[in-house]
Amino acid sequence: MMRKLQRTVPAPAELGTEVIGIREGTDVELDLRLEAVMEGVLVSGTATTVAVGECIRCLDEVKLDLVVHLGELYSYPENRVAEDQDEDRQELSDDLIDLEPALRDAVVSELPFQPVCREDCPGLCSECGVHLADDPDHSHEVSDPRWSALQGILSEGMPNQASGAPAVGTPDDTKES
Ligand SMILES: [Zn+2]
Ligand SMILES: [Zn+2]
Repeated sequence: MMRKLQRTVPAPAELGTEVIGIREGTDVELDLRLEAVMEGVLVSGTATTVAVGECIRCLDEVKLDLVVHLGELYSYPENRVAEDQDEDRQELSDDLIDLEPALRDAVVSELPFQPVCREDCPGLCSECGVHLADDPDHSHEVSDPRWSALQGILSEGMPNQASGAPAVGTPDDTKES
């Protein structure tokens, strides 16, 4: 006995981890196979949905298409007899809350611990927080003391060259009476 079940259900709350997860109510497409076996009903198949999180480097939103594989055996209660199999399967297909623990386990194990918007995401500038991906040549010249010194020399040097006279006092000026 085998039955296929395709259904879209809203994601339950808190499906995922602290850094990435399925938002509550997001469509979860279930493509399942329900097999009657000796012990109960074997449910296998996939759940397809979209996880949303935050890039650990640049804090941008990360969307991740997720396909997780499910495989769970739902045992019949011991007092059920074989004739109740149909009823059991009906319960299972109509009450998919039973799938939640299996779905939760499968989703969490599939989610990345450290989501990134892209593998080579350069993150944020440690000085000003700008997205380095938007501005790869970004730098802070003023904050570097070597650059500050050079800029100082350049800005003082230009007027001196124009006037032709040294900025500091000449030996003649030192004599006073
Ligand atoms: Zn990023
Ligand atoms: Zn910066």
